[in-house]
Amino acid sequence: MFLKIVLLLIIIYFLYRFFGGSFSLPKPKTKEKDEVEQNTLVECASCSVYITKKEAIKKGNKYYCNECA
Ligand SMILES: [Zn+2]
Repeated sequence: MFLKIVLLLIIIYFLYRFFGGSFSLPKPKTKEKDEVEQNTLVECASCSVYITKKEAIKKGNKYYCNECA
């Protein structure tokens, strides 16, 4: 009888861990990382002005500001 209770507690524990783990998937973290990436400063290859990646225009491997693009 006692073993049955222990076994049941172990099953409940694993179910809790399984569902708890799947509910806390780090989806918002990825979005946050993208936002940080978008706010990273890059230098305009033409006038050396610093702009965020969000505002920069990428041409090949270089970034340009709105005025130089
Ligand atoms: Zn520029």
